[in-house]
Parts: sequence; C-alpha cells; structure tokens
Amino acid sequence: MRRRSLLAVPALLLLPNLARAQTAPAVVASFSILGDMLREIAGNRVRARTIAGANADAHTFQPRPSDAEALRGARLVVRNGLGFDGWFERMLRAGNYTGPQVVATTGITPRQMPAHSHGHSHGGGAAERRQNHSVGPRMVADPHAWQDLRHGVAYVRNIAQGLVRADAPNAGAYQAAAATYVTRLEALDGWVRAQIATVPEARRKVVTSHDAFGYFGAAYGIEFLAPQGISTEAEPSAADVARLIRLIREQNITAVFLENMGNPATLQRLAREAGVTVQGRLYADALSEPAGPAPSYEAMFRHNVGLMVAAMRGNPA
Ligand code: ZN
Repeated sequence: MRRRSLLAVPALLLLPNLARAQTAPAVVASFSILGDMLREIAGNRVRARTIAGANADAHTFQPRPSDAEALRGARLVVRNGLGFDGWFERMLRAGNYTGPQVVATTGITPRQMPAHSHGHSHGGGAAERRQNHSVGPRMVADPHAWQDLRHGVAYVRNIAQGLVRADAPNAGAYQAAAATYVTRLEALDGWVRAQIATVPEARRKVVTSHDAFGYFGAAYGIEFLAPQGISTEAEPSAADVARLIRLIREQNITAVFLENMGNPATLQRLAREAGVTVQGRLYADALSEPAGPAPSYEAMFRHNVGLMVAAMRGNPA
C-alpha cells in the first residue's frame, strides 16, 4: 500500500491540489486534547484521527479493533506520556507501529504525587515533604500537564516539531500555525490569571472528582481537593470521602464540580452530604462534543475558569 503511493508521487506532483488530497499524511492522536492541538497546527494538511474522543476517560480507555486500524499507514502518532495513555502505547505495539511518535510532555518536569492521594490538598507541600524521605507512599508522575497553559505551549511546540519532521514540505505552514497558536495560548494564560485575581485568596479552593488539576492549581494559585487520586482507576475510600466532606464544611467551600468523564455518583453524594450544590461540570481529561461548551483546548480553559471563578466567589452558605 505504502510503496504504491510512493511510486505515484511523481505523477501527482503535476497536480498539486490533487497531490495534497491524496497524500496528506495520516496522524493519530491518543486523546481529544492532543487531537485538537493537532488540528490547530496542521489544519487539513494531515488526515487527523483521535482515538479517545469527546468525554472519554483516557485513564481507563479500551481501544476497539477499529481504532487499531487507524494506525495502518499512519506517518506520525501523538501521545501524552507520563503514564496517561498507556493503552495507546500497547495499541502501537499490537499494531506493529514503528514510525515516529510525539510524546507531548517531552521536556516538561512532571509534578510528583502520591500514587493514592485521595482527599489531600494539592498545594504541593505534603507531597513534596514526603518526597524528601526515603520511605513513604509510592510517588508517581502526574500526567495532567495540559492543565497549565504554559505546558500546553510545550505540547504545541513538540507536536509542531513532529509534524515538521514527518512532513517536511509543509514545515513552514506548521511552524507559522504553531506560532500563532502559541501567541493565543499565552494571551489565554494571562486572561486566566486576571480572572483568578478577582477571587479573594482565601476562597481559591475547588472540589472536583479526581486529581486532574494539580498543574492548574500550581500554575494559577488554586487549591484543588478531590476524593479520587490522579487516576480514575482507583475508587476513593469512605474515609477519604468523609474527610473531604469535613473540609468542605469547615472551609465553606462553594466551588464543587463534577467532571465531564466518568461516574458522577461519588461527587454527587459527597456534595449532598456536605450540604453544597454541585456548580456544574469541569472539562478535565477530555473535550466536549463540537456543540458542547468545551470543544477545543482553549474553549475548555474559558469554560472551566468561568465556572470556577463564579463558584469560588459565590456567597458561602
Ligand atoms: Zn485524569
């Protein structure tokens, strides 16, 4: 298949538009946020395919045989790394994919978290203290680096570099699109900071389903609390939930949210028992459907920050 299309190139060069349509490289992204970045940088210069799509929980995602088919003839794949999309790596092995890979978190120093950190604060203090001892809970890299827009910029640069290598004739277009996109993300980062600055410091606390916002909290000065750790695979214990309910009451936390992926039951019960109203749905590890409130990486930040800021400023009961 591949050999045949290479042989066809000289003839197609006579028809540049047709050539582009027929030879646009296939690029496969593991999950929706990477798929959106890929589209922003590559536009229709590649045939982009995303495996774990809108509202999918990429921690526990199980690809189907038809997903693996997408790898056939792919010229580049894009994954998050840091243990987030291990199923995608297994899919690459199973599909005998040996082509180039972009690991979007390359060059980012990951936050370290206890493997099971249910219900603890994520200001970093406890985790960092523990890290300095030779014994203690097992530490793992927090994979949710995209929740800091400065890391999002690093993702974009890594993806652009991968595209430039995989499709050199379009290098200039990829670099130009990436530069424009980075400028927008940097402006959005400033907007996020300005929004959060309108919330009194003591009220910058948010409860959500799992520890997806460690990078967000560290970057933008919000304390996130969650009953579930950095992966959605492990269920929270009753003691963890009880401790979090106590914290919500003691600290009058009003910003309590569901996430767009996974089961809302634990968080709903927790909110009920703490006597607080769930303030909506944050987009954590996946984008929304195109018609939803967070169809792109940028829209996700605007949506999440808008909800968080309004809820944090809300009058405590
Ligand atoms: Zn997550």
